[in-house]
Amino acid sequence: MVHRYGPHIFHTADQRAWDYIQQFGTFQPYINRVKAISQGRMYTLPVNLLTINQFFNTTMSPKEARAFIAEKADTSIKEPKNFEEQALSMIGPELYKAFFYGYTRKQWGLEPTELPASILKRLPLRFNYDDNYFNHPYQGMPEEGYSAIVENILKSENIEVRLNTKFEDLSEEFQHVFYTGPIDRYFDFRLGRLGYRTLDFERIDSDGDYQGAAVINYCDQDVPFTRISEHKHFAPWEADSLKKTVSFREYSRLAEPKDVPYYPIRLANEKTMLDNYISLARATKGVSFLGRLGTYRYLDMDVTISEALKACDQIDELLAADTQLPAFFIDPS
Ligand SMILES: Cc1cc2nc3c(=O)[nH]c(=O)nc-3n(C[C@H](O)[C@H](O)[C@H](O)COP(=O)(O)OP(=O)(O)OC[C@H]3O[C@@H](n4cnc5c(N)ncnc54)[C@H](O)[C@@H]3O)c2cc1C
Repeated sequence: MVHRYGPHIFHTADQRAWDYIQQFGTFQPYINRVKAISQGRMYTLPVNLLTINQFFNTTMSPKEARAFIAEKADTSIKEPKNFEEQALSMIGPELYKAFFYGYTRKQWGLEPTELPASILKRLPLRFNYDDNYFNHPYQGMPEEGYSAIVENILKSENIEVRLNTKFEDLSEEFQHVFYTGPIDRYFDFRLGRLGYRTLDFERIDSDGDYQGAAVINYCDQDVPFTRISEHKHFAPWEADSLKKTVSFREYSRLAEPKDVPYYPIRLANEKTMLDNYISLARATKGVSFLGRLGTYRYLDMDVTISEALKACDQIDELLAADTQLPAFFIDPS
């Protein structure tokens, strides 16, 4: 079960999304534990007490580490203006350079000083030995893979699937359209193209165990890829029985028109363009824009499901009141 569009781990705090997805397949328990290589040494992520102690060659307790990092934090930065200032004001220069600077630069193709401070909202450190990458209470992997989940969803008699059919080539009239393709594409890119990052995957086939973990991040700027994912470790219940293994190096770059759009950039220019597309969408009757592409936001799978279910709740109410359905059920701005 190779994740063709990048590794996907289902994790959520939303009981409804968790119950919903489990109707369509069995989820095996899975905890994402990410490793990181920085300046020739191996660490665990998110940056936790083990990372801190290994990095500084110490044996600090949680309390000691908190005080130590508070000393490192740059208190002269009162109102951080960008990602770098935000990180320096929270964790100081050493951890920032080792774990955030190079990785962020590779991921976004920009200097962290050009990225908004808002990307780092919470302190990206843990003062205990918890190395579970996600904070959510529910986390799992579909036993038969995501394709089986989607196949099961599509078994509904209310769904007709047409493969290899572009939305814009359909000639029928619909009472209402729920459009989950790119919002700029819906309007023929007439205001320009919203920027995305895309990923190139370089496949590595080998025997046995390639790296011993599902995900290893490469934090240094001089390593051109951001991480390597070894896909059999996403299925720990069967990994040991597999003699061969498939891994992928991940390279991030700006998306060209022909590429699969992965991460919306959402910097000042894109936000302005998005606002203009939102105005066009609001003026378009009979269409609602949903999903990560329809609203130009990074959404995890559980959030995509939660939002779709919320939209369904509102649809019933709006139809009962004989009201036109809105262009957006969730404000994408
Ligand atoms: C690298 C990467 C890793 C991720 N990892 C995780 C993770 O670990 N956990 C997690 O919860 N989420 C993860 N996500 C997010 C997850 O992929 C999204 O939540 C999910 O794909 C959103 O579903 P969607 O239906 O909105 O969009 P999509 O899944 O992109 O579906 C939109 C569909 O519309 C089709 N389409 C577009 N335009 C047209 C058109 N004009 N005509 C016809 N069809 C069209 C597209 O081909 C696509 O199939 C990750 C995303 C990326 C990029």
